[in-house]
Amino acid sequence: MAKSDGNSNIYKCSFCGKSNRQVNRLIAGQDAAICDACVKICTEMLETEIKDDEPAIDGELPKPKKIYSILDQYVIGQDEAKKTLSVAVYNHYKRIGQKKRKEDVELQKSNILMIGPTGSGKTLLAQTLAKILNVPLAIVDANSLTEAGYVGEDVEDILLALIQSANGDIIKAERGIIYIDEVDKIARKPGVNRDISGEGVQQALLKILEGTQVNVPIPSSIHQQMQEMVTIDTKNILFICGGAFNDLDKVIEKRTKGKALGFGANISSKENKDIGKLLKEVMPDDLLQDGLIPEFVGRLPIIVTLDPLDENSLIQILTKPKNALVKQYQKLMEMDNAELVFEDDALKAIAHEAILRNTGARGLRSILERIMRNVMFEIPSFEGNTLCTITKEDVLLNQEPTLKFEGKIAKAKK
Ligand code: ADP
Repeated sequence: MAKSDGNSNIYKCSFCGKSNRQVNRLIAGQDAAICDACVKICTEMLETEIKDDEPAIDGELPKPKKIYSILDQYVIGQDEAKKTLSVAVYNHYKRIGQKKRKEDVELQKSNILMIGPTGSGKTLLAQTLAKILNVPLAIVDANSLTEAGYVGEDVEDILLALIQSANGDIIKAERGIIYIDEVDKIARKPGVNRDISGEGVQQALLKILEGTQVNVPIPSSIHQQMQEMVTIDTKNILFICGGAFNDLDKVIEKRTKGKALGFGANISSKENKDIGKLLKEVMPDDLLQDGLIPEFVGRLPIIVTLDPLDENSLIQILTKPKNALVKQYQKLMEMDNAELVFEDDALKAIAHEAILRNTGARGLRSILERIMRNVMFEIPSFEGNTLCTITKEDVLLNQEPTLKFEGKIAKAKK
């Protein structure tokens, strides 16, 4: 029995020395006892020890240069963004993997904000980073989020998406990446007091960005109506927020050149490359002007800007990356004994059309799909080798590509 201090009704915790009258619960063993408060402290110590032993990622953490070189295989241009992200992500996982001692400098978590036009590669960068590090990734749209208690997705649903991406492995999920797209759409709306879709959502995100324990209801696989509660700690989850912030260049221009601009000066018509240059000068205060709240901006200390893609970059996107669209169509055609050739002028025309659509590289796929639709319908029925050449006219005049089959020339039927 634990020590009774000479008095048969008084037992003391062997760790803190408090008696059973001073604590809520006291668990007594043969020769020792422990109180509820000490059990809690011990549990926390064990938990941190177990977590410190967990590697930050599966395998060795790649160095920034290595991360950059892999990003380079998939993402065209955006050099500064690739460099900044390589360093930021390396530091993040180094911080998690650090063996903590009391006297160590506390390394703060650094979430990331990516600013760049639609279709410039924000999501692709987040996806590629998660692949390089082999960590789970959840991609969510800030537009769909609402403050807790309102119709729409809750902040907890973001964590549920990450847990599902980690196949239910909470430890893995706690080291994952969450990409929140379109954060510019949750800007505070001026004059609205109770703003559930803007400021309210930013408020709701603050805690998880910072690091907190969240109870997430997981739908049970055994019974549809049952839910299992799991607790997930967000302190090591890397949050990357992205947005186009379409008017930000004007805010920055006003700040940097405001005094030099005359009354009524036109600050809206700019070339893409000028917009890219201006965005690089972004300061946290500019984001406040654009409707983000200071606490939200404060939790995204690393700001990365992406350039709008020009015609040349779009041509490269079509042909260069490991899984470039043109390579994908060529592979598909090859399986049906067809060689697919895009003339240089045709690639230029496709890139030009994508620029007119103003959706960055997003437009490329649908343009190609339109060009290739009938070709992909016809070719599998040909027996023998086919050569399919895509010309500028096929793109610009929306005409069917020429097919050369066994010495004969044909057009894919509309
Ligand atoms: P964003 O998130 O900036 O709106 P995405 O990353 O979703 O844009 O890009 C849409 C598609 O365009 C991607 O699937 C990708 O194939 C292509 N893409 C966009 N930017 C690039 C880039 N810089 N390099 C290679 N491909 C790109």
